[in-house]
Amino acid sequence: MIVLLDNGHGALINGKYQTPGKRSPRWSNGTQLYEGEFNRAIVNGIIQELTELKIPYVNIAPEYRDVRLETRVKRANEYLKSNSFYLSVHANAGGGHGSEVFTSPGDTKSDKIATIFGLEYKNTFPDKKLRTDFTDGDLDKERRFYVLTRTKMPAILTENFFMDNEEECKDILMTKEGREKIVEYHINAILKVQQELF
Ligand SMILES: [Zn+2]
Repeated sequence: MIVLLDNGHGALINGKYQTPGKRSPRWSNGTQLYEGEFNRAIVNGIIQELTELKIPYVNIAPEYRDVRLETRVKRANEYLKSNSFYLSVHANAGGGHGSEVFTSPGDTKSDKIATIFGLEYKNTFPDKKLRTDFTDGDLDKERRFYVLTRTKMPAILTENFFMDNEEECKDILMTKEGREKIVEYHINAILKVQQELF
């Protein structure tokens, strides 16, 4: 099994954020979260753990600049013949709280993977909300995100808390402890996916 890791959006280059929008409000204490920086911190944490566990992975977008979605998908689809799955990491915005695991519509292996991620999220954050949509009988939410519909292997996207929710942003997304727990649930889920589905 190869984990294809997608760190959504761009990063900071010499202090300049590479992606329009995709950031928290500037809080009263002057701090602000750039989503692409957060996504990279989580993907890099996952990479650190996967390296120690000797689980193969590919960092789909190692650049700091924002890599186009078409490019990310094209890079991923080169691994079609390997046993792989695509994992895109994001933080949410738009008002709300909690986290979500997305797949593209339809019942596929992606749904089984998403269910494992949702359950591991609940194990790691038992007092936090998992925003679910049980219309299709499982806990994931379904949406036609480009990276989910165009990748040819199973693919999921995690939206980790809301960066425009001050409490979640300051207490979870911007803290070492919060980030470590987010990495931890992703790693526990990847181990379960490897055991049960590959
Ligand atoms: Zn995002």
